[in-house]
Amino acid sequence: MELFELGIKAAQEGLNKGEFAAKDLVQSIIERYRAKNGEIGAYLTFDEEQALALAEANPKAVPIAIKDLINVQGQPCTCASKILKGYVSPYDATVVKNLKANGFIPCGRVNMDEFAMGSSTENSALGVTRNPYDLSRVPGGSSGGSAAAVGADMCIAALGTDTGGSIRQPASFCNCVGVKPSYGRVSRYGVTAFASSLDQVGPMSKSVEDAAILLKAIAGYDQMDGTTPREPVPDYVRAIEGASLKGVKIGLPKEYFGVDGLDGEVKRVTERAIKLAADAGAELVEVSLPHTQYAMAVYYIIAPAEASANLARFDGVRYGHRSEAATDVYSLYTKSRAEGFGPEVKRRIIMGTYVLSSGYYDAYYARAQKVRTLIKRDFDAVFAKVDALMAPCAPTPAFRIGELQDPLTMYLNDLFTIPSALAGVCAASIPAGFTEPDHLPVGVQFVCNAFDEARLFRVCKAFEDIAKQGE
Ligand code: GLN
Repeated sequence: MELFELGIKAAQEGLNKGEFAAKDLVQSIIERYRAKNGEIGAYLTFDEEQALALAEANPKAVPIAIKDLINVQGQPCTCASKILKGYVSPYDATVVKNLKANGFIPCGRVNMDEFAMGSSTENSALGVTRNPYDLSRVPGGSSGGSAAAVGADMCIAALGTDTGGSIRQPASFCNCVGVKPSYGRVSRYGVTAFASSLDQVGPMSKSVEDAAILLKAIAGYDQMDGTTPREPVPDYVRAIEGASLKGVKIGLPKEYFGVDGLDGEVKRVTERAIKLAADAGAELVEVSLPHTQYAMAVYYIIAPAEASANLARFDGVRYGHRSEAATDVYSLYTKSRAEGFGPEVKRRIIMGTYVLSSGYYDAYYARAQKVRTLIKRDFDAVFAKVDALMAPCAPTPAFRIGELQDPLTMYLNDLFTIPSALAGVCAASIPAGFTEPDHLPVGVQFVCNAFDEARLFRVCKAFEDIAKQGE
């Protein structure tokens, strides 16, 4: 077995036994990167020198690939946008500080949809990322580089971010574990903001145990992020010891099944996963989240509204790209932004500015906030009755590069991941099987209540064990 194939747990064991050092791990990843990145395109940049220097200085640390919107001191942070070309981070995001303090080092910058807007990584202005299971297909998005790097064994594990599904959907497409923590569980300080009331950093890994180790390392209160509560971080690794589904009450939200766009093979794999859970002793009950049908509309008001405000900072003055054609202050703003942002980002800024404008604020933005509260209450009500929810993660398996041209069709990818994001609860995608005959990975989604990650990990670990036995 090559070192790049290891997950976090196995890498830590080898490091602790002295079988190899961090620099051997990094060296192995560099070799894999050189061999594979040309075809997969998971990484945007890979500072081999910095990675090796960090490994030399931290011989027992495990390297982690970082989505290119998380600041690592001395590294580029482009958000896969032309507007941040040339920007070098002057500081570490809190998640990166936490990684370094807990036996990890950042290693390479992975591709994404520009500013995390998208579901296929095709919105990256800086390069194509391909699905390791079928190079003609997308890896999902927006954390497509993270998912492809994990799926192609080009890293030990990676960090992604999820605003409406961007960890879970690419995890499903690339056969990896992806966990979106509860809103506030992980600091957003130093993570380039898309939609501040939704964004969360989370682990993407080769196993549930690895995700538990990685979340434990990055999570917790941060005085630099006022949305992180002082809630202690449980030991997620201990939480999964002896995990079992016996007697666990799992709700099947009826609004997530029998949906028009749900692919037949995804449905078959999901139903098989549900049967496996039932056979393992889980108590399955049908539940209802009655406001699910409004989630998409609410998300595409709130997320662009917040994005339009967050992205106002890219003005050609403070960071990155500055138009050469500007003749005065006004044209400096407009030309730098027109040249720097891609079409999807512009679309979101226009939508967001519109729903926040004085004539439409009440009709769209304020109303969407009210419906968001109703969606949140749906989750409160079901979690009074069940331990976890089980549902499809993405409505289809990985689609072909260039296949989805219409932005609205692309938005539908997040049908099953957006409601839980709006509610701020935690959720994960776990590998559940493959489609026939194309052999494309399909993840199943588990959702638990806010700050109930320990339970989420237990359920996911138990499912992972039975899904592996069933292979
Ligand atoms: N695909 C969704 C969007 O485009 C979600 C993105 C995300 O979670 N960052 O907004």
